[in-house]
Amino acid sequence: MKFWEILSESKVGKAAMDYKRANRYPDGEAIPDSLPPRYQPANFPGVPANQKCSNCGYYESKSKKCDKFKGDPVVRPSYWCLKWEPKKETVQESIPLSSKLEWPEVVNKVSSAMKAMGWKSQRKDDGSFMFSTKGRMDDEWYFVIIDNEGEGFFTYALGTIEEGDPYIGEQDQLPNTEASVSELMDAIREGFGLDESVSEGSLEEKWSQKYKNSINCSNPKGFSQKAHCAGKKK
Ligand code: SF4
Repeated sequence: MKFWEILSESKVGKAAMDYKRANRYPDGEAIPDSLPPRYQPANFPGVPANQKCSNCGYYESKSKKCDKFKGDPVVRPSYWCLKWEPKKETVQESIPLSSKLEWPEVVNKVSSAMKAMGWKSQRKDDGSFMFSTKGRMDDEWYFVIIDNEGEGFFTYALGTIEEGDPYIGEQDQLPNTEASVSELMDAIREGFGLDESVSEGSLEEKWSQKYKNSINCSNPKGFSQKAHCAGKKK
């Protein structure tokens, strides 16, 4: 089963209606005050299937801002709130035919780019692939999962496993295009804090207690550091 597969309910369930958000995300980042109390991860119980900020009519995919609420707060693509509305025009309609890719082409392009960075790939099933590599610490793994959503879209999820504890960070849905593959690679580099020198080789030489000690949990960089800091708070 795809791990971010959303529940099959079509109506808002009681659990989602009763939810009251905290002031911070699990990784410690502050949730903008203007977001409503029912703002929550889209895979929480009671959230209708296939509704999340990334496919909401109020979501601006480039800036990740929601223009429903005061100040156009930045939201997370994999979250949701009661004000969700479908997009009036699908992204698909605005994509020129020439830049569309079939799912196997998306997989091939992402696989080649990940292989060039030294990541291993693993086919989960026809529609789902996982890429992984050892992180900077000896008890840490980084992983990326891409999943064919059909109808010309795919989703991705970036995560870490530290001391056996999985943490899913950024998730988003993108159309099957060349530009989306580049967007995904940027998200991976940014999310895991991979600079040029690291991305071209193995991360092995970067593992160290020294690196672990150097992480500033009051200002973590990328979600791999945020995951580490969130894990320390548990
Ligand atoms: S209105 Fe839409 S984009 Fe804004 S928080 Fe709610 S679900 Fe997310």
